[in-house]
Amino acid sequence: MKFINSLEFAKKLDAEDPLKDFRSRFYIPIINGRECIYFTGNSLGLEPRTTQDYIVDELEDWASFGVEGHFHARQPWFSYHEQFPDLLSPIIGAEREEIVVMNQLTVNLHLLMISFYRPTQKRYKIICEAKAFPSDQYALESQVRLHGLDPEETIIEIAPRTGEHQIQTEDILSVITEHSDELALVIFGGVNYYSGQVFDMHRITRAAHDAGAYCGFDLAHAVGNVELHLHDWETDFACWCSYKYLNSGPGSVAGVFIHQRHLKDPSIPRLAGWWGHDKNTRFQMEKGFKPIPSAEGWQLSNAPVLSMAAHKAALDIFEEAGMEKLVQKGRLLSDFLLYILDEINASHPERMIEIITPRKAIEKGCQVSMLMQNKGKAVFEALKQNGVIADWREPNVIRVAPVPLYNSFEDVYRFGEVLQTFYQ
Ligand SMILES: *Cc1c(COP(=O)(O)O)cnc(C)c1O
Repeated sequence: MKFINSLEFAKKLDAEDPLKDFRSRFYIPIINGRECIYFTGNSLGLEPRTTQDYIVDELEDWASFGVEGHFHARQPWFSYHEQFPDLLSPIIGAEREEIVVMNQLTVNLHLLMISFYRPTQKRYKIICEAKAFPSDQYALESQVRLHGLDPEETIIEIAPRTGEHQIQTEDILSVITEHSDELALVIFGGVNYYSGQVFDMHRITRAAHDAGAYCGFDLAHAVGNVELHLHDWETDFACWCSYKYLNSGPGSVAGVFIHQRHLKDPSIPRLAGWWGHDKNTRFQMEKGFKPIPSAEGWQLSNAPVLSMAAHKAALDIFEEAGMEKLVQKGRLLSDFLLYILDEINASHPERMIEIITPRKAIEKGCQVSMLMQNKGKAVFEALKQNGVIADWREPNVIRVAPVPLYNSFEDVYRFGEVLQTFYQ
């Protein structure tokens, strides 16, 4: 599309946007008496206006029924989590039985590593991206130590080439091949949280399998943002959080994918809890763990219904909007943003903003990461003063993510306008 850097053009795009009405379903924070430009949906998504009602419903049922709510609430708590696979299946591209909503992201990453990182004398190495989100680094290192191994010798990080900001797929594939004899696990983010790069999950999975290793993804920055086909890609496992693009509230309940072919495999170990036990005999409270033959069999505890109510409110909106339309609009928003940033850079030959996010449609989602060549922190502060909520990452990156459910093309235009004033 041929873009124009004008308010009129941005308003025209908004008028033509099939998702334009969804913005009014969210609370947009107010700064200086005016709706802010909220570009941190990649960090904490905004609150849907329906969320409070969904939670209040559960509080009312708790008041009315007490423990009986497990079976008599309007949406019985015993099976509350069973609503999620239908809603998440189109978002992550998986079969219902491959999905379970439980715990939180880092906890789930640990649980999945218990199942899928089982180093042997010969196969023990892990390949991951350099500069993965710190929680993932800590999880990997501590899992490696749990097996009595040394993270230095076990974890191989793949970094961008010198002078580049994105990791080349070729480099990932060749490192996997190089270590294929000793490789136990390949684990990547679906989207790198820093650069916004979307990894080629399909090819990475295939390469890992060719090397005889398992492959898993942390989809924290991918879920609800980019197209995913975990089942068809044959990815072994994945996990994600629900409070970023999925708008389910701070620290809300997270999700897990385990590929169908592993669900009934008794050779895969797991940490077990009563909620993963066969539903028909769970309340006989007897010895002998009998796992549910689906991803639900990885559950430990009974479901956190209040946080699940927020998750349900958010996912009902996703279902209505449709993932395909969301991905399309997300791309258009970030393309418009890139165009505006290019204009600003063109008028300032010293090029103060370097875009470190890939430009190809399949390699980026909503997020655009701007490496500020100078005065980065000052620009960031100025943005805040002018009603823009963005995200600062040391040493000099501003991340912005216009998201398709509640951001508008006008938001993107106005963001450019604020940024521009700083360069005059
Ligand atoms: C946001 C994020 C986390 C946060 O983990 P929690 O367990 O939800 O606190 C972890 N990993 C990645 C890649 C993230 O983007």
